[in-house]
Amino acid sequence: MGKWTLDDAHDLYRISQWSDDYFNISDCGKLIVYPHPENKSIQIKMQDVVDELRQQNVSFPVVMRFHDILKDRVVRLNKAFDKAIKAHFYSGKYRGVYPVKVNQMQEVVDEIVDAVMPYHYGLEAGSKTELMAVLSFKTSPQALTICNGYKDEAFLRLALTGVKMGRKVFVVIEKYSEIPLLLKLAEEMNVRPFIGLRIKMRVTTEGRWSGSSGEKAKFGLTVSEMLQAIQYAEEKGFGDCIQLLHFHVGSQLSDSSYITSAVEEGTRVYARLKKRGVPIQYLDIGGGLAIDYDGSGSNRHSSMNYSLDEYATHVVSSVQQMCQLEKVSEPNLVTESGRAITAHHSCVIMRVQGEISPQGVARKIPKAQEGEHYLLSNLRELLANVREQKNYVEVKTLARTTFDDLLVGFKLGVVRLEEVATAENIYWEILRVMESCEQEVDAGEELQGMLATQYLCNFSLFQSAADSWAIQQLLPVAPLSQLDVEPTKRCTLADITCDSDGKIDRFVGENGEKNTLLLHELDEATPYYIGLFLTGAYQDVMGDMHNLFGRLNEVHVFADKNDPNNFYIEEYVRGSSASKVLRIMQYNPDSMATSVKKEIDQKVREGTIKAREGVQLIDFYEKCLKGYTYLKN
Ligand SMILES: *Cc1c(COP(=O)(O)O)cnc(C)c1O
Repeated sequence: MGKWTLDDAHDLYRISQWSDDYFNISDCGKLIVYPHPENKSIQIKMQDVVDELRQQNVSFPVVMRFHDILKDRVVRLNKAFDKAIKAHFYSGKYRGVYPVKVNQMQEVVDEIVDAVMPYHYGLEAGSKTELMAVLSFKTSPQALTICNGYKDEAFLRLALTGVKMGRKVFVVIEKYSEIPLLLKLAEEMNVRPFIGLRIKMRVTTEGRWSGSSGEKAKFGLTVSEMLQAIQYAEEKGFGDCIQLLHFHVGSQLSDSSYITSAVEEGTRVYARLKKRGVPIQYLDIGGGLAIDYDGSGSNRHSSMNYSLDEYATHVVSSVQQMCQLEKVSEPNLVTESGRAITAHHSCVIMRVQGEISPQGVARKIPKAQEGEHYLLSNLRELLANVREQKNYVEVKTLARTTFDDLLVGFKLGVVRLEEVATAENIYWEILRVMESCEQEVDAGEELQGMLATQYLCNFSLFQSAADSWAIQQLLPVAPLSQLDVEPTKRCTLADITCDSDGKIDRFVGENGEKNTLLLHELDEATPYYIGLFLTGAYQDVMGDMHNLFGRLNEVHVFADKNDPNNFYIEEYVRGSSASKVLRIMQYNPDSMATSVKKEIDQKVREGTIKAREGVQLIDFYEKCLKGYTYLKN
């Protein structure tokens, strides 16, 4: 084996594949961020940020946000469409909106709105509460505000209030019954609404969100409902308000052919409505722009087989061709890309707290004793000869069955506890020797999985990477430093919840996926930090409080080329305290402390606890209530 190089680290963690130019490895083996990828001289070593946070006593895990990346994503998307529109002499404009459900955090939406003033980029809301949030941001007057999702009277009133505020707030009709209610309220409030129609698409897509299209889709109007809605609006004198046509066929569309066929179907509907005199100006193609989580550039679920520029080109050219065919004018284009905007900007940084190896704490194998059970002797012999064996699958099976038989013997009372302990150690040693021989690759990968150490990471999968658990979403993992050192420990990751599902055992690999990841040996003296990347879309906001682990501490890191380390931490947002999480579960932390105090006072009166100690115990309990929910480190 040659000397370990940074290229090897790139191959192993696939950083250049999934980073989309925002992450890299420095010459000294540190993971770096390029907040402005067009200027590679500004680079932030993530370990430097960690060191600064440690100095400030910020507890980990921490969500690190790079708002410069967020801005860059929005600009990239807008530029991609501008370029495609120019190249095709397309006559419509691009008016994207950011669907806030992907990450509703105030700072995130604020940064997006701020980044995109020159692009007239807007916001999308899928619920009443989201619309309340959306209306509180000042977007460009030409930007669109789009309301999707099921609506009640208050939702519609809020939308019309937005129109009165001078915004272009489109109410997208998802369900026929929304149109009579909207028009009634519009008359009552004396305002001309902006109406969009969502069509139920026929194209079927593949992937985890394929349910967003097809006959069984939850949202949208059938063709006949759509025609009925148009007729109703026209009869009521609101025909001219129908200006937008919307569809959304699913998130993370890995294959560009789904995008093209959806756009073709949608544009055909647009064209036919246009010919009927419906004054549609905007074609809203929804979300779906994917992220290459595994970096394979393929049509796998965790990947995408097109680039951002290609996406814009496919959309512009498909709409244009269909419009030429149908001889109708080209609509303004709206996308509702969420994942593609927010995924890169945030990551979860956690410390590896310890390790759990399947064989437990390794122990020397004691010498054979007189009268030892013959199954144990058989295992010893197997171990002695394992290096000479050719058929590893056979050896593995034999070792397993012998060990199992021995356990049966123990249950029957003919094998001693010490013999089981020795057999355990021999069994794992056989597997280790076989793995080190590395001759048969197939058997090798399975063995690696069996022998992998679990690195115990201070985080909750359910809070920080919900999709990793719920839909087997693949997220990249990499250490923040030592990338110039060969990692030798084969690992999976375990979180600190009491749930055996709280683990990561699927990693980004050369051929898509692998079930272990090589990491560095732990060393007491130097804390080892790893990052879970591309968590800015959905993961940031969908997590739950399993085991009462609450929201994470967050830091907002900004690039600063005048700083020796190229960054400053603009803000530190404290994560949930134990008492905050408890309050959500209807506890009252004050009365909890009072109850505990009462019991301790009682013990003090009884004399089993000294008065001074009693005070300390109560103080400690109260301090814990104020503290962070994760392990202290
Ligand atoms: C969720 C959703 C989006 C965002 O989709 P992404 O794939 O994250 O871009 C856009 N539009 C609608 C209607 C949605 O439901």
